[in-house]
Amino acid sequence: MYNKDNVFAKILRGEIPNKTVYSDDNVLAFYDVAPRAKVHVLVIPRGEYTDIFDFTQNAPAAEQTAFWNGVRNTVEKLGLRDNFRTVANTGRGAGQSVMHFHLHIMSDERFVEDF
Ligand code: AMP
Repeated sequence: MYNKDNVFAKILRGEIPNKTVYSDDNVLAFYDVAPRAKVHVLVIPRGEYTDIFDFTQNAPAAEQTAFWNGVRNTVEKLGLRDNFRTVANTGRGAGQSVMHFHLHIMSDERFVEDF
């Protein structure tokens, strides 16, 4: 059951500030307040989904496609290209602390074009 009081819902409503990396009609990407990598960004759908299974089972296909396009746009904006990890903690036992589906994007090195 989705709880509208979660911190990411508040960010989406503009009640809590965030450092936005990428934003469109379906997706918001912003820097994690407690980074565990040199680059640590969270990508969230604007729709109300508690976790990855809620999202993949209940979001319309167009919304899911838009989410992954948003992930790609975020990665490109960060200049990470193919040099990052994604994590979707699922369930409190696995460390999910915010019950609004989010994908962690983490990287310790930006892609260097010519070296
Ligand atoms: P998880 O533990 O997988 O649910 O990830 C939640 C993440 O949200 C953690 O890495 C937190 O550091 C991050 N976080 C919590 N509150 C905020 C906030 N206001 N702005 C940005 N990131 C946040």
